[in-house]
Amino acid sequence: MENKCSICNEDLARYGNRKLKDGMLCRNCVKLCSEWLSDEDYLNRSVEDMKKHLEYRQLNLDSLDDFKPEKEVTGKYTIYFDEKASKFVVSKKKDFKKDNSDVFRYDDIKEISIFEEQYMDTGSVDLYFDIKLKDHDIDNVCFRINEFPGMEKDSTDYQNTLAKAYEYLDGFEKEKGLAFEKVEESDNG
Ligand SMILES: [Zn+2]
Repeated sequence: MENKCSICNEDLARYGNRKLKDGMLCRNCVKLCSEWLSDEDYLNRSVEDMKKHLEYRQLNLDSLDDFKPEKEVTGKYTIYFDEKASKFVVSKKKDFKKDNSDVFRYDDIKEISIFEEQYMDTGSVDLYFDIKLKDHDIDNVCFRINEFPGMEKDSTDYQNTLAKAYEYLDGFEKEKGLAFEKVEESDNG
């Protein structure tokens, strides 16, 4: 096994590194990456891909300087909308600039869906908001809407979470005139 970061050449720490398709990424470099990269994304990306990703992340800092949100839909994740520039940011942190949260354009959106995942043992569910992107270094912005995992389907928590999902969706639809299919997936077995 390699024991140095393939990008910055620093020694790898014991924890927090990521394995890439053809190398290793140290935890300091991982911290600079987008929070929307999944485990699979790291494994599928080469060292060259990650160099490009980190360049993009550097440019994102400039995009954030120009980002002026006029509207936000708050939640476990808040979506900030800069409607004049047709851009949006999804972040858990109030201080998304310091966090270098990714700035996306409405034009980057390929598809938005709301889906449900069921726990096999208890039958309780989680609701997810999923924004699929095109022509962007990040493929997918997907997050759990409910604060705590596992909701009973007939609970008010579930109803409130579903209402929040549609509130997010309305954020994109209103004023911009974007229309998305509302997909409610559930596997009833
Ligand atoms: Zn590194």
